[in-house]
Amino acid sequence: MTSKPMRPSPISPTIDLDGDGVHHGHLRLPYSRDDSAWGSVMIPMAVIRNGAGPTALLTGGNHGDEYEGPLALFDLAGRLRQQDVSGAVIIVPAMNYPAFRAATRTSPIDSGNMNRSFPGRPDGTVTEKIADYFQRELLPRADLVLDFHSGGKTLDFLPFCAAHVLPDEALTRQALAAVEAFSAPWSMRMLEIDAVGMYDTAAEEMGKVFVTTELGGGGTSTAASVRIARRGAANVLKHAGILAGGIDSQPTRWLDMPSGDCFCFAEEDGLIETMADLGETVSEGQVVARIHQVGRTGAAPQEIRAKLSGILTARHFPGLVKAGDCASVVAVEVE
Ligand code: ZN
Repeated sequence: MTSKPMRPSPISPTIDLDGDGVHHGHLRLPYSRDDSAWGSVMIPMAVIRNGAGPTALLTGGNHGDEYEGPLALFDLAGRLRQQDVSGAVIIVPAMNYPAFRAATRTSPIDSGNMNRSFPGRPDGTVTEKIADYFQRELLPRADLVLDFHSGGKTLDFLPFCAAHVLPDEALTRQALAAVEAFSAPWSMRMLEIDAVGMYDTAAEEMGKVFVTTELGGGGTSTAASVRIARRGAANVLKHAGILAGGIDSQPTRWLDMPSGDCFCFAEEDGLIETMADLGETVSEGQVVARIHQVGRTGAAPQEIRAKLSGILTARHFPGLVKAGDCASVVAVEVE
């Protein structure tokens, strides 16, 4: 079997990714369409580089309806000066830019979920082309990756920073140390429902220190959640030695997701009534939500029971729910 060399990415940065200085520009992705024959998708990015040192890659808007990351990162990109940095900070505040502009989780162009599109394809969809550029151009430049998420329009989370427990123990230790430095009110040893195609997995398989967050949700942000995001980004850069100064360390409570029993899913359509609020302690077997039928009166609601004892960490956000939706997540506090 012969393997063809992979074609180059169609994406071109409008700035110098590797030169010293403060560079504001775009990743330009050609996208020919009805309203722009030779048009492009222009994904904002900034690179702040100052000599030798580690490189951090900071991303938001991996899902387009999650706002703490873009708010923290547009702000950080506008404030960092060359002399503040030892090494480099690469900032892409809205990674799935078409989704971000449409305020949707996935891309309105191709329905692509960025976090299920890795390693991407240079000859694929718009979303796959962006993933491929991260896979082959940006991730290899990074030592540390911080990717901001929140619940988006359909979930709401306790504010936490998270890393995965990986087969590589040294890499796991480094990632959990960066989570601790982030100083969110909650910190998570995170389990994924399905890790295939995730940006997280792509970075971790390259041996990068990868840290992520869930900082709220509901398709908006709060003053508190944005403060957590801004402080966390600065803390992680200080932890990495890229920014000078002491870490603004805040108390954090560690959570673990020991198994798939953390997740509860709706089995019917209906009107969801949360029976516990985020941060409340719940016991195994306790009803954490009820789904009421809306087509008739007199029907018993579906009861959603916690499969383990812990802290209610996430819940479905909109009042109406569909069969298969994630209704709640219970995580276990660890000392
Ligand atoms: Zn997300």
